[in-house]
Amino acid sequence: MSLGSGRCHYHPDRAGLGICVECRNVICVECTTQFEGINRCATCLGKRLEKARRLVARNDWSFGNLFLAALCVLIVFGGLYGLSALLAD
Ligand SMILES: [Zn+2]
Ligand SMILES: [Zn+2]
Repeated sequence: MSLGSGRCHYHPDRAGLGICVECRNVICVECTTQFEGINRCATCLGKRLEKARRLVARNDWSFGNLFLAALCVLIVFGGLYGLSALLAD
């Protein structure tokens, strides 16, 4: 697998232009994607974006959970406070 001499892994009829840094497959100009300045094939870029999206989703989820937990604490304490105020009357 040397640069420029191979065939695209996804298009056997096309000349390879570069090598994907992740799967090490030879890829043609159409399959080459530049992301963060690094060559990747469309498949690996898709996987990477999917991973990034999942990471973001997980972050959102934990932040949302934290917010919900704080809200629950507020509601419980607010309820207790209101109840104690009612009982004190
Ligand atoms: Zn790849
Ligand atoms: Zn290709």
